[in-house]
Amino acid sequence: MALTEVLERIRRAETEAGRPSESVNLVAVSKQQPIERVRAALESGHRRFGENRVQEAQSKWPALRAEFSDLTLHLLGPLQTNKVKAAVTLFDVIESVDRDRLAVKLAEESQAQGRAPSLFIQVNTGEEAQKAGISPAETDAFVNQCLRVYDLPIIGLMAIPPADEPPAPHFALLAKLADRNGLSQVSMGMSADFEIAISLGATSVRVGSAVFGARPKVETASPAENEP
Ligand SMILES: *Cc1c(COP(=O)(O)O)cnc(C)c1O
Repeated sequence: MALTEVLERIRRAETEAGRPSESVNLVAVSKQQPIERVRAALESGHRRFGENRVQEAQSKWPALRAEFSDLTLHLLGPLQTNKVKAAVTLFDVIESVDRDRLAVKLAEESQAQGRAPSLFIQVNTGEEAQKAGISPAETDAFVNQCLRVYDLPIIGLMAIPPADEPPAPHFALLAKLADRNGLSQVSMGMSADFEIAISLGATSVRVGSAVFGARPKVETASPAENEP
């Protein structure tokens, strides 16, 4: 299956980069995928998945977790403060910490629930106006604030490079920022570029369509299409 092939490509990229085997985690991005594809991956033994929306994840993962209790679930998409409670309950890793208010809320909610997901800070390496993430220039101060002031379990940095630029300089920048802040985890690389990310130090790649196939188009109900 495609999952096996992606895992083989990851192992090959690790070797080519002179990195230990299994030093890179595969987060299989299951957003918008039919549940049968997700189930097939679970049944083949994969246990690490990523979703980008809290609500969608809530609708499918609690049932799957009852069956596969050892799975690890990552939140990859933007997190609104009114969804923090649900996110802390459901996810094991939250990769999209990108502002002070969210960090404060995560600290409060982790305390309240006695459950603290591991966190990545999202960096907007391309400084794109429409994209979430802290700017590279503010990253050191924000990491420090989260670790020392809010006492949050920040384990790494995450980025989504601009779609219309070569990703390598963005990957290199993210790895540099992580290293400079003493963070061991770097989440970068998707279906189109995960091998490049691994060559530049990714410890976690987030791969959706290469694992599960293209995401089905969301149906926009049009009366004409419903006619026989
Ligand atoms: C959807 C998504 C991915 C996976 O994208 P593919 O191109 O399907 O591999 C990775 N990271 C984030 C944040 C995403 O939203």
